Amino acid sequence: MKTLTCPECGNELRIFEGLESIECRICEKEYTLTWENDNVSLSPLVRELTPAEKELQRLLSDFSKEWMKGPTPEQKKIIEDFLMDFKRSRDEQTETEKREAELREQYLKKKAEHHG
Ligand SMILES: [Zn+2]
Repeated sequence: MKTLTCPECGNELRIFEGLESIECRICEKEYTLTWENDNVSLSPLVRELTPAEKELQRLLSDFSKEWMKGPTPEQKKIIEDFLMDFKRSRDEQTETEKREAELREQYLKKKAEHHG
C-alpha cells in the first residue's frame, strides 16, 4: 500500500497495489492512478460528458449566440410598436389631465363668481 497527498485538500490517500482510480474521502475529488514500476502518480479524473450534458452545452452555446445577435427585425418591430402605443396612451393621458385641470379651474372660477 502506498500513500499520496490529495492535491485538492491535503488529505492522505491510501492506495492499494493495482488500484486504477481513487476518490478522496474528504473533498470527493476523483483521480486516475498511473502506475510506473512501483511508483504511483495521480491525475484528476476527466469524466466524459454524457450525451444529455453535451446536448445541454450545445443548446446553451446556441442560445448565447442568438442572444448576442440581439432581436430579429420582427422582434424589433414588436418592441417599437409597443413603445409607440405606450407613448400614445401616455400622451392621451396627459391630454385628459390637462382638460380636467382646465374644467376644474373654470368650475372654481364660476363658483367663486356666483358666491362673490
Ligand atoms: Zn481531497
